[in-house]
Amino acid sequence: MYAAKESHGLRLYDSELDRNSPQRLALIADLRRAVERGELTVAYQPKVDPRTGRVVGAEALARWHHPEQGPIPPDVFIPLAEHSGLVWPLTLHVLDRALRSRAEWARAGHDLHVAVNLSPNSLLDAALPDLVARLLEATGNPARALTLEITESTILTDPAGSLATLERLHALGVEISIDDFGTGYSSLGRLRELPLHEVKIDKSFVQRVAADHRDRAVVRSAVQLGHALDLRVVAEGVEDADTYAYLAAEGCDVVQGYLLSRPLPAEEFTAWLHIHSRNVTHTFG
Ligand code: C2E
Ligand code: MG
Ligand code: MG
Ligand code: MG
Repeated sequence: MYAAKESHGLRLYDSELDRNSPQRLALIADLRRAVERGELTVAYQPKVDPRTGRVVGAEALARWHHPEQGPIPPDVFIPLAEHSGLVWPLTLHVLDRALRSRAEWARAGHDLHVAVNLSPNSLLDAALPDLVARLLEATGNPARALTLEITESTILTDPAGSLATLERLHALGVEISIDDFGTGYSSLGRLRELPLHEVKIDKSFVQRVAADHRDRAVVRSAVQLGHALDLRVVAEGVEDADTYAYLAAEGCDVVQGYLLSRPLPAEEFTAWLHIHSRNVTHTFG
């Protein structure tokens, strides 16, 4: 192994050595420990109906606070988990936390849905639908209260396998959302074949609608396409009032972004929810 690397010189540095660099392996070991000990937390970001200002749901986002390095972004640790067999326990942990939180909100009178992100390996695990059914029952949630967010690239990884799993989840009553919509070159025909409830327009388009007419065209046609397919259309990455007003005028069903709230730790989210629902006439626009 080492001899081969030396003889190939720098050429192998990126691919092989980088993937097995001591720093990366140490981070994977730390992540494994954190997952095993249940140390990952979940932050919640509200999803709001822009016509009424009401909170309709929340997205659960995994958070890892490394003991020495501080917060590590999910864009770093989710791929690490995917490549080291940790994504399944991580997904179960997030699902369990999210469903427990959702049951608490319901007990406090807030009938919201909670959305959990699924990476390719967890969607393609044949055990997922049964596990979801068990977690729903154990946490006392109706299936309609759970939305699973998947990306177009996940579906493209194994179209037949993902369709089979999506159909079983759909039969349970769980809702499915296509995340980061617009970035994955999905064909219209393929989307139509899937049992979907929601599309989330990627924030890269949403963030520039005020400044760029091409992004306005993408957003407008995504809203129309989503509605033509009887889907709920969500815009993520809404950071300012002009964007909010534009999306409301275009008929977007749900908005999510820093304008409303950053993702919040569970207790802060609950407090935010109580305050916001008392002032629901405030519509951010
Ligand atoms: P995503 O599912 O598309 O989540 C949206 C991301 O946009 C989140 O980043 C959120 O904090 C961020 N965001 C929300 N509003 C705004 C805004 O107004 N402006 C900007 N600039 N950003 C905004 P985060 O939490 O860093 O997560 C990044 C990605 O990591 C997620 O993208 C998702 O793909 C993945 N991820 C997070 N948690 C999980 C998880 O539990 N499981 C899996 N498989 N993936 C996860
Ligand atoms: Mg998401
Ligand atoms: Mg997204
Ligand atoms: Mg994203």
